[in-house]
Amino acid sequence: MEEKKVICPNCGSSKCIKNGRVNNKQTYLCKSCYSRFSLDRIRKRYPNEIKKTAVKLYKDGYTLTEISKKLDIKIQTIHYWIKNSRNGR
Ligand SMILES: [Zn+2]
Repeated sequence: MEEKKVICPNCGSSKCIKNGRVNNKQTYLCKSCYSRFSLDRIRKRYPNEIKKTAVKLYKDGYTLTEISKKLDIKIQTIHYWIKNSRNGR
């Protein structure tokens, strides 16, 4: 049930294991880079400029894959931004 895929915010690896709880928050340990993190921190905030750049590149005709590689951001994230930028803002 709780087996969501957890991605390391540090290196992007999905080889993360549960590492106990701290202050009632589940923490994880990345087996690739050994950084520890909690789910709260996974939502990495990207600066607006990167968002704009991604959306702009998309409008310029780049594919999601290309943008993802260029900016080193997950395709899902970029897709989300593009969807959002279409809905008004
Ligand atoms: Zn990692």
